[in-house]
Amino acid sequence: MSTQRLAEAIEKLRGAYGGLEAELAARPPRCWSTLVDVVAGGPKAKSSDSPRVPLDQPEQLVKLPVEALQEALKVTGRDQRRAGALQALANWWPGDDPDESWCEDHERRHRELTAIRGVGHELVDRILLLVLGLPAMPLSRAALRVGCRHGWSGLESEYDEWQHLFRQAAELADSSLPEVWWLINRVGRSHCGSRPRCDDCPLESLLPEGGPYEPE
Ligand code: SF4
Repeated sequence: MSTQRLAEAIEKLRGAYGGLEAELAARPPRCWSTLVDVVAGGPKAKSSDSPRVPLDQPEQLVKLPVEALQEALKVTGRDQRRAGALQALANWWPGDDPDESWCEDHERRHRELTAIRGVGHELVDRILLLVLGLPAMPLSRAALRVGCRHGWSGLESEYDEWQHLFRQAAELADSSLPEVWWLINRVGRSHCGSRPRCDDCPLESLLPEGGPYEPE
């Protein structure tokens, strides 16, 4: 039942926001540059310093002082607080054109990423989903808030239950997990923050009788 309602929500969000094609085209999977964008955000500014700081070369990044990497992230408008994690990820990254079997070893990649300092559970799944192309739904605040407020699941639910819910609903809505992730986070940013703004939200018609449940 919850799966069906979530599938309906995905369809409504797709109708309101469109698909994900342009976003995905800008971030091809299995690329180091995609990983940089996923971890530290995309570039928001051009830097004349960029040739000196090879953000696109993981083997060079591991040798940099972390302060230099922080500065490189800052001048390109990215999140400089991610410098330490990015450096650890550069050390983990297998190099250009990673092998298909390396990318597809979900369990091992999950284990390795979870062990990296500064890479939390949500970011682990974001890397698995958007960089390695694996079926892992990042349980962001937005995903949990929207899911709990509509009663599709609860904060007491296990990680695997949430994963199952999102995977099944994506299939039912003929969508993909990256698209679901993008749509849910989009509605989270525009309407479903710490306080829900249900008026004019694309999911207003799917609210439980009596309004949204309180997740916290
Ligand atoms: S803002 Fe309201 S209608 Fe929109 S997703 Fe959140 S709880 Fe649902």
